[in-house]
Amino acid sequence: MLSFWEQKEFIHFDYIIVGSGITGLSTACVLKERNPNAKILILERGLFPTGASTKNAGFACIGTLSEKVYDLSLMGEKNLLQLVENRWKGLQLLRKRLGDAKIDFQNNGGYELVFNSGIENHLDKIDFMNAMLFPLFGKNIFVEKKDKIDAFGFNKKLLSSIVENEIEGQLDTGKMMNSLHDYAASLGIKIITGAEVNSIEENNHCVEILVSCNQSTQTFKAEKTVVCTNAFTKKLFPKLEIIPGRGQVICTSPIENLKIKGTFNFDEGFYYFRNFENRIIFGGGRNLDFEKERTTNFELNETIISKLEWYLKELIIPEKQFTIDYKWTGIMAFGENKLPIVQRMSDRIAVGARLNGMGVALGSKIAEDLADLLQ
Ligand SMILES: Cc1cc2nc3c(=O)[nH]c(=O)nc-3n(C[C@H](O)[C@H](O)[C@H](O)COP(=O)(O)OP(=O)(O)OC[C@H]3O[C@@H](n4cnc5c(N)ncnc54)[C@H](O)[C@@H]3O)c2cc1C
Repeated sequence: MLSFWEQKEFIHFDYIIVGSGITGLSTACVLKERNPNAKILILERGLFPTGASTKNAGFACIGTLSEKVYDLSLMGEKNLLQLVENRWKGLQLLRKRLGDAKIDFQNNGGYELVFNSGIENHLDKIDFMNAMLFPLFGKNIFVEKKDKIDAFGFNKKLLSSIVENEIEGQLDTGKMMNSLHDYAASLGIKIITGAEVNSIEENNHCVEILVSCNQSTQTFKAEKTVVCTNAFTKKLFPKLEIIPGRGQVICTSPIENLKIKGTFNFDEGFYYFRNFENRIIFGGGRNLDFEKERTTNFELNETIISKLEWYLKELIIPEKQFTIDYKWTGIMAFGENKLPIVQRMSDRIAVGARLNGMGVALGSKIAEDLADLLQ
């Protein structure tokens, strides 16, 4: 039973956002920046964000050459250019909102490894792709740099070349999410954690959001609601086309004289690694076991983890001593094509989801688009 005070202050909001990942937090911030007097609440089921935003690799990137070649065949030139532009714009918005120092943004470049055999390379498409992306960046972004194989200390027997993209960067995911949370709080956005939204219903006056917490339930009311629950959105909107995709990640112990600096990919972006100071954070391999990884369950997949460890030993840091200090998983959301869902479900409800494993880059742009949709 709610008190008079609780009814008056705790239940009614102008906007309620579901999910406190990068998309939910950024959307709340954009709405508050545009409407400083609006009362805004974020409802988060976990004790802290529990999806992808605190689990990712922190690549601040627009994607590799071979990923682009694949995307072009999937979605055509117009959609591809729009997606790349949105990733780029999203990154600029994120950096502007929080500041590079607070998220430890570093522009160390991005690199795609080209294998001698076994994994398709698209070196012959460099000129074509550079020409297509030239209008967005005003320069050729992909450049072949064979000498980097030695410079980074990779196993030369496995690689034939490297493609550099100098505009790629990296950030500290933990710092980024903490800063975004603190920024939202500084604007006066309220965040309730441990609050799982079970249903969202609309009537003529408002949206009613049913939340469970500690075996009890509570209905919150909002003028408008934005659902930013990415891979978990089907629970609330079962008809949306969203396929979960689990990502496995490992992080090494600090490595003496580590030569690797930057963000790295291979196999059309299915494998990705970076340095964090003198450790390596390495994730991917979903394509080894698509079926098992199509889940919202956070378990480790030892087959994939073993393959990641194999690549570390044989390709990435051969002859270096290291242990695996951390292993974890995060859940992404995919669809038939690589376009996110930014959709109005009604006058009062919008959904921003299916970020296709690129939400660090896309999240802030999608937040702007969601705010535009609702206003
Ligand atoms: C391993 C891995 C590596 C990645 N690496 C990169 C990278 O390097 N660069 C990049 O750009 N992107 C990367 N991504 C993708 C990026 O992290 C995601 O696209 C992005 O974080 C999605 O943000 P989001 O806020 O939309 O979703 P999420 O971060 O998943 O947030 C959704 C939130 O909603 C909450 N929630 C769900 N259901 C409910 C409910 N019913 N009620 C209340 N709350 C709910 C969840 O607990 C969660 O906190 C990676 C992802 C993973 C998993």
